[in-house]
Amino acid sequence: MEKFIISLDQGTTSSRALLINKNGDAIYSNQMEFGQIYPKNSWVEQDPLEIFETQLNTLKNCIDTNSLIKGQVVSVGITNQRETTILWNRITGEPVCNALVWQCKRSQNITTELKKQGYQDLIHKKTGLILDPYFSGTKIKWVFDNVKGVKEMALRGELLFGTVDTWLLWKFTKGKKHATDVSNASRTMLFNIIEKKWDDEILELLEIPKSILPEVLPTSSSFGLIDSSYFGYEIPINCLIGDQQSALFGQLCTNVGDIKNTYGTGCFTLMNIGDRPIFSKNGLLTTIAWEIGNICCYAVEGSVFIAGAIIQWLRDELGLLKTAEESEDLALSVPDTNGVTFISTFQGIGTPYWNSETRGEITGLTRSSKKAHIVRAALESIAFRSMEVINTMKNDSGISINSIKVDGGACKNNFLMQFQSDISNVDIIRPSNVESTALGAAYIAGLFSGFWKDLDEIKKIKKSDKLFKPLITSEKREDLINQWTNALNKALGDA
Ligand code: ADP
Repeated sequence: MEKFIISLDQGTTSSRALLINKNGDAIYSNQMEFGQIYPKNSWVEQDPLEIFETQLNTLKNCIDTNSLIKGQVVSVGITNQRETTILWNRITGEPVCNALVWQCKRSQNITTELKKQGYQDLIHKKTGLILDPYFSGTKIKWVFDNVKGVKEMALRGELLFGTVDTWLLWKFTKGKKHATDVSNASRTMLFNIIEKKWDDEILELLEIPKSILPEVLPTSSSFGLIDSSYFGYEIPINCLIGDQQSALFGQLCTNVGDIKNTYGTGCFTLMNIGDRPIFSKNGLLTTIAWEIGNICCYAVEGSVFIAGAIIQWLRDELGLLKTAEESEDLALSVPDTNGVTFISTFQGIGTPYWNSETRGEITGLTRSSKKAHIVRAALESIAFRSMEVINTMKNDSGISINSIKVDGGACKNNFLMQFQSDISNVDIIRPSNVESTALGAAYIAGLFSGFWKDLDEIKKIKKSDKLFKPLITSEKREDLINQWTNALNKALGDA
């Protein structure tokens, strides 16, 4: 009987379930979007119960539609949006408030105060992260300071915290397992990535009791069993991994110096740096990529918070597009942006600036600016921000970068990929299966459960790629970069 792995990909905008066969093909996939809640400027929330329900329903659809797979699913791997913070009552299972999504900046005052008090270096040295509201630690503190009764619940031992992986695991195991993996833990700003344990000093600083935190396990582990009440039989969960680290593994960036860039809601570039952390001086994060079979692999990471989300915004808020795909033809319908530059930093700017106050701008508008120019400038802005991250990685690591593997929803856009190759002067390698995030978790769960024997077996099933090579002259590249830099400096100055 054929066996399968199921990958659950809990993204920022949707939950997905993919049924993966031995050949590494997603032979069935199911996706459900869920609500985004914006109570105030720069605040972003999601309903934890909706996150779970959509994820459960995609899994149900996967199992019900493919009745033949009953009992043939060897293992489940979960990959998830990172940093998003969920707090719930240990006894009732009820969330105490909505999930505070990674994009949410409400804990800005807390991070500003900690910076003022000089804690930036300590946090960086221990966690590899920057003091920024993006990470879970100050989000928890914000809830303790602002949602009545929650801190008291924590002190009474009635509260649990989890990133989305932990929440899903807890729900799927019916409260039997409260655990996370090192890749997710390393995004909380509470986890010491060298000692690989929750950091007492940081917990004390933020006044967070350890009792709310999940147990931290290696990325491939026996995390628990999906309770039999869901499907009539138990299914083991053998991988939890943050989405960006999962994409790095899914792209088989398993050697030092391998890089991938994921073009989703945001853009996240990760470089494998091997089994020892390197701490950046230029705003790159250091993070745990995965721990598999006693080997801990680290990565440096550059973050661009808004990428595909600009296209979503042009579609949903401005109505300039009917579909995200349409942006490619529109961009190609004009030879350039006609002087328009789009600075897409809606919720602050990440690597290498880390300025939470920077806001979006569109510059160079004239009466002859057309919709196509604005759409093209928006796509170009995604590539320009990734270019800045790639340059930072090059300078910081001293490793020359000749090629980058890409994935994520927006990498299907050929204009964007060619433009990225042109301005970064690197080869862009796009796999035929762009679901690298889901594949990473599937590969890790599959290796743990013996579905695949070893990495070599997986390398053999990896599908052919499409290659984008730089096509523009260096003068043209310089002109484009100058126009971008001038507009960006203006936006940074305005912040
Ligand atoms: P996430 O996992 O962060 O939810 P995905 O990897 O599913 O994101 O990618 C979805 C994002 O990609 C959306 O923001 C969407 O606007 C953008 N996107 C999807 N297809 C295209 C396309 N052809 N061109 C540009 N952007 C796209």
